Amino acid sequence: MSSDGVDAPYVGSDFYCDVAIPHTDRLDVMHEDEHVLAFHHTRPFWTVHIVVVPKRHIGSLTTVSAEDESDVRKLLGVVQAVARDVEFEQGAAAILTNLGAYQDSKHLHVHIHSGERRDQR
Ligand SMILES: [Zn+2]
Repeated sequence: MSSDGVDAPYVGSDFYCDVAIPHTDRLDVMHEDEHVLAFHHTRPFWTVHIVVVPKRHIGSLTTVSAEDESDVRKLLGVVQAVARDVEFEQGAAAILTNLGAYQDSKHLHVHIHSGERRDQR
């Protein structure tokens, strides 16, 4: 057991509020502003795998409400910019957001990926 649990796998239900957003220094950050964070996935599923999240807690795409509009607009702006770069560099990209039982972390997050599917480390 590690002394402080920093290296232990996260087992909670909101990795973004609990770990990623408060500790961006531990991430390979691509974009960060007051409202949106984009970083290279800590355990990438694909050759290129970037995650974009709103800093303010929003549960998922299907729970977005009128009060979230500004954050979602800013999120999509960053998704577009990052996806454009990946598309340009890799020639192809896909955007994915999981819902319900497919969504491990109950905080809206958008995956941008390209390249071969990787085995989980
Ligand atoms: Zn959250």
